[in-house]
Amino acid sequence: MLSSTHTIPQKNIAIMGATGSIGDSTLSVVSQHPDLYNVVGVTGFSRLDKLLSICQQFKPTYVCVAKEKEATFAQMLSEAHLNCKILIGEQGLVELATLAEVDMVVAAIVGAAGLPSTLAAANAGKTILLANKEALVMAGELMIKAVKQSNAKLLPIDSEHNAIFQCLPTAVQQQRNAIHDDNHGIKKLWLTASGGPFLHKTLDDMKRASVAEAVKHPNWSMGQKISVDSATMMNKGLELIEASFLFDMPVSEIEVVIHPQSIVHSMVEYNDGSFLAQLGSPDMRTPIAHAMAYPDRISSGVERLDIFKLSGLNFVRPDLEKFKCLGLAYQAMQQGSYACIALNASNEIAVQAFLNGDIRLTDIADINEKVLLQAEKQPIGSLQAILAVDKLSREQAHQCIADLNA
Ligand code: NAD
Ligand code: MG
Repeated sequence: MLSSTHTIPQKNIAIMGATGSIGDSTLSVVSQHPDLYNVVGVTGFSRLDKLLSICQQFKPTYVCVAKEKEATFAQMLSEAHLNCKILIGEQGLVELATLAEVDMVVAAIVGAAGLPSTLAAANAGKTILLANKEALVMAGELMIKAVKQSNAKLLPIDSEHNAIFQCLPTAVQQQRNAIHDDNHGIKKLWLTASGGPFLHKTLDDMKRASVAEAVKHPNWSMGQKISVDSATMMNKGLELIEASFLFDMPVSEIEVVIHPQSIVHSMVEYNDGSFLAQLGSPDMRTPIAHAMAYPDRISSGVERLDIFKLSGLNFVRPDLEKFKCLGLAYQAMQQGSYACIALNASNEIAVQAFLNGDIRLTDIADINEKVLLQAEKQPIGSLQAILAVDKLSREQAHQCIADLNA
């Protein structure tokens, strides 16, 4: 393991979505290894006080904010006697992710808003620590092509994908994550899911669920959107698509299994009967630290897993009637890239409507299903075309919400 005295070159890191939950975990790991990582740039969308305190602590050269927040934030920086260079809006995110001095980009913006900067980092040959699964769901083929062409590195920090990555042979890890034709004896990927807060509740309970109940994840502390996605299991659906692109595996060879304890973070099954699994406390700093130091290892500050205290590890099949969103993800992958973009867009709109109190939790799956039905079959290849399908699908989801409330 590397210690802070280890002599490896310091890496310059840009943290996209630094004010969020993954941002917090990343900054926690960085703060434990100031000699290994230098925060060159951070971005934040709405919580300016938090963004300012990050700037005070980590002194980045660049900070990116939304256009409407630029003047206020410039004033805040000046009052705090900080002279970070301000980058603005979506263009600013792309500029930061592609700066020559940036080695590593942590893609931790939530939703489709993260796609342009994540794709730009891939095209620029950066090492990308990927949390923003929506980027791969929307643009999997484009992202993987960009990574290969530019020699970028795509290291998953989504805990399940990071676990699978850790359980793959080194040869596969280093072939830019793709499992090639001889597939190295790999039979199947197993994605574990906690089952979220409604695992032991009925569909009727889910219909009546409040926002507070839906975002109260039993094992993980996360941002609001992914917490709702975990409650509907759309998160696992998005992760299924993410895994398929990351590891070049058809979804028919990826199985979702509910493991309520969230200790086994995912598994790889081999032809000889072996299952390799990665275990750990449910704390995102483990996968983040793994990817930050890969192929070395650094400390993460995570509480050590006390295996003597584990009462048991259970594995059960997901109920696809209760968690309809998971089935929709399999369906979208069979339909093609248009459907994946449509499903992701619809889900973002529906989740926001639920958080706003406009629809019930269970309406999310119904809206997603309706938008998916309208998805066309043709493959979508360019960023521009992806964004156009995303926009249209959002409009369709808004229409479904309006119909529900009519
Ligand atoms: P969060 O809501 O806590 O943080 C989101 C970040 O994105 C914030 O910094 C916010 O300012 C920024 N942001 C939001 N909208 C934006 C916009 N329109 N433009 C620019 N920036 C914007 O979310 P999170 O839980 O940290 O999740 C971030 C990503 O990581 C998501 O894609 C999520 O699926 C993935 N992920 C999160 C976890 C987790 O434990 N939180 C685990 C695995 C994967
Ligand atoms: Mg995950």
